[in-house]
Amino acid sequence: MSNLAISKKLNQINYWGFILILFCAFPVHSQHLLIPDRVFDGEEMHSGWVVAVNENKIVYAGPESGLQRANSYQRKELKGKTLMPGIIEGHSHILLHPYNETEWNDQVLKESAAERAVRATVHVNKSLMAGVTTMRDLGSEGAGYTDVYVKKTIDDGIIPGPRLLIAGPAIVATGAYGPKGFHEGVTVPLGAVPVSGEAEAIKEVRNQMGGGANLIKIYADYRWGKDEPSQATFLQEEIDAMVATATTAGKYVVAHASTPEGMKRATLGGVETIEHGDGGTLEIFSLMKEHNVALCPTLAAGDATEQYKGWQKGEEPDTDRIVKKKKSFKLALESGVDIVFGGDVGVFPHGENYREMELMVDYGMQPLNVLQSATSVNARIFHLDDLGKIQPEYLADIIAVEGNPIENITQMRQVKFVMKDGVIYKDE
Ligand SMILES: [Zn+2]
Repeated sequence: MSNLAISKKLNQINYWGFILILFCAFPVHSQHLLIPDRVFDGEEMHSGWVVAVNENKIVYAGPESGLQRANSYQRKELKGKTLMPGIIEGHSHILLHPYNETEWNDQVLKESAAERAVRATVHVNKSLMAGVTTMRDLGSEGAGYTDVYVKKTIDDGIIPGPRLLIAGPAIVATGAYGPKGFHEGVTVPLGAVPVSGEAEAIKEVRNQMGGGANLIKIYADYRWGKDEPSQATFLQEEIDAMVATATTAGKYVVAHASTPEGMKRATLGGVETIEHGDGGTLEIFSLMKEHNVALCPTLAAGDATEQYKGWQKGEEPDTDRIVKKKKSFKLALESGVDIVFGGDVGVFPHGENYREMELMVDYGMQPLNVLQSATSVNARIFHLDDLGKIQPEYLADIIAVEGNPIENITQMRQVKFVMKDGVIYKDE
């Protein structure tokens, strides 16, 4: 063999060696075959199913006998577990942390946007580890467009976190939102952007969409003074104008509302979801259903804030607010209005999203309906066409929990496996 031939041969060996190394370092099969005890597909529970994933897509869900070339997949046994779509949290605040750590006023007034962003990186990681693969974040609460940049760093792969749908700064009626209690010579940052009149309202919706908001959050009612009851804030024509502006741009509006009047105006104005709805009546919930408006009840926020005020849950009887909330949630269920799973997480610790599911069951909803709400229902209401179901062609946002959450909803605390967009983030 000439020197040239030897060197050619060596090159070939190097070439094949390189290819071999490539195969070892990056297994070509990001093809997973997930084998749990049962699969909740977003609508119902199936036993004896497997789920096949290729890259970031689900390619098969059903009995293993129906899957072609099953042995070309990397098998992953999930013994004793339930596989389900990643949870879609409907109401979060990644830029807030529990009020019993720091009151809302102090978070808005004393924590810089930088501090709040750093905290948010921890919050989004906790959410993902809790099985939340998508999260609708409803207002930066004084931190401007910080949510836009947290979302960007997740999307760029800098930090782990759920897919975010963000509202940006949110919009309130002039004078209606906090922090309050300062004399007129003191300027403080507000928890949302105040507007009055159709022209200002339209302009601010455009500002926020242009700034990166995926949807618009408005406050259709709020308390005007400390300890006062909530009252409607925006006029009907202001709400109508904001909804028209958002929908023209292919976006939608959600409304904070807890009074019958605020809820009614928001519904007639064409918002897509109403947040909280504590004072909802059967008539209002039926009106919402008729207008295809969903209710995001945020049971866990009320449950948490009542405890922050001193309520000893389990030892003392329900507070007036809890009694009222249980009643209105029952009326909502009775009306058949769509229920969005969303706890207002941030008021209570990030990663404890399961609290809302447990309360939904506690307040009268069937566990199967709760799981549907947290997956396929939220996906439908949030216009996420390829999420919320375990079905071929859907994105591989998949989690596994210990045991069977339909038999015991507290199993949702035991998230052992998290895959988002085909990438495994947790595997215990
Ligand atoms: Zn909220």
